[in-house]
Amino acid sequence: MAKDNQFVEQIADINADFPQWYTDVVRKTKLVDYGPVKGTMIIRPYGYSIWENIQNELNARFKKRGVENAYFPLLIPMSYFTKEAEHVEGFAPEVAVVTHAGGEELSEPLAIRPTSETIIGTMCSKWVQSYRDLPLKVNQWCNVMRWEKTTRPFLRTSEFLWQEGHTVHATAEEAEAETQAMLGIYKEFVENCLAIPVLTGRKTGKERFAGAEATYTMEAMMRDGKSLQAGTSHYLGQNFAKAFDIQFSDSDGALKTAYTTSWGVSTRLIGAVIMTHGDERGLKIPPVVAPIQCVIVPIAARKGGVIEACESLKAELESAGVRVVLDSSDNSPGWKFNEWEMKGVPVRIELGPRDIEAGKMLCARRDTFEKAEYPLENAVESVKALLAQVQKDMLEDARKRREERIVYADDMAGILSAVEAGNFVKAGWCGCRACEDKVKEETAATARVFAEGEHKEKCAVCGKEAKHVIVFARAY
Ligand code: ZN
Repeated sequence: MAKDNQFVEQIADINADFPQWYTDVVRKTKLVDYGPVKGTMIIRPYGYSIWENIQNELNARFKKRGVENAYFPLLIPMSYFTKEAEHVEGFAPEVAVVTHAGGEELSEPLAIRPTSETIIGTMCSKWVQSYRDLPLKVNQWCNVMRWEKTTRPFLRTSEFLWQEGHTVHATAEEAEAETQAMLGIYKEFVENCLAIPVLTGRKTGKERFAGAEATYTMEAMMRDGKSLQAGTSHYLGQNFAKAFDIQFSDSDGALKTAYTTSWGVSTRLIGAVIMTHGDERGLKIPPVVAPIQCVIVPIAARKGGVIEACESLKAELESAGVRVVLDSSDNSPGWKFNEWEMKGVPVRIELGPRDIEAGKMLCARRDTFEKAEYPLENAVESVKALLAQVQKDMLEDARKRREERIVYADDMAGILSAVEAGNFVKAGWCGCRACEDKVKEETAATARVFAEGEHKEKCAVCGKEAKHVIVFARAY
């Protein structure tokens, strides 16, 4: 039995070395591996399965809003990027460029998409002619490339997977409303499916997407108190519509320029799940996106009838739509408990000869380690109810942890000590860039999001009248 703790010993102490814990967990649970090119990752089946569950949940929500999936090319002519000045400036340092192909130098270099506003804008200028063509709503699931100097699996890699939604509207009001609605959909999805509470709102000008009029974000608190930008929704105004000539003849016959939005979430969300919920034993995956929701571990498996009972329970759960695995390997039960805990499976069922005789099963929750017996005859209902409870409790637990770590500060010293202690800090801000920059220089915290509806007398940096309250935090 000494070997049963081997899995736990493989993972660094979450409280002592969070970055190492993260690296250990993502690799040892087989979520991801490093690619041969620096900054690239291989998403292994266990990790990719989480992504597929995320895709399914989001696709259902997008389609309900009238967004259709499409696919645009990976390669974008460099000239497209130069059409929107702020956009090209913002992305220039990260863009990878193809200059040679087929053994020849290309007449025009081609960018590997860091995002697709330029090419989708170009196509929309062809597709949008009349007010009848609006609104136009497309989304693509794809990979993008942004060359990064320091990288970490899921959080920051040169190539990652995401979805990017792009919409075109007749009026500013409609486009602005779409931007907000998508942020709302993201928030509902992240909270209900990933069990991650998020703060949502507008970004400051400094943190805004290159080329946007306004960027709205959702910010999640990780276990170490750092913030992770979990998704963004941009109101692009007419910036891209003008650059790419997206014009339409309106119902009054006048030729008008359209308004556009874009919005995206990426495989970063998997990093957010790991760092919001994980603990000293490893991953803790919320049931809605867990690749395996329930594992059955036979006890005294060699005894007559045990495996058979486990198999029939598995079949029953499977046919009810539960993602279930029966671990009939020859490892000891203790070994199996540790392994499946490390992999973050929400519910474990233990079934042995005595349970079967009594018509019961023992269920252990990954989130709280609570164990309880349930009658075998209502197994499906019990397991489904338990999964729903785990999902709900994981969100509440994360919310409680976050609420305890959102504090206020009135000066720079206060901001510094609060972020050093792993908090989000709300502070007054006069609105000037110099003060925002100073916070970053002196505390390594950045302005994550406006705290809408809150008021402070003074800017925590310069002492002048505060126009806004900002949530500052160190961030991934
Ligand atoms: Zn100030």
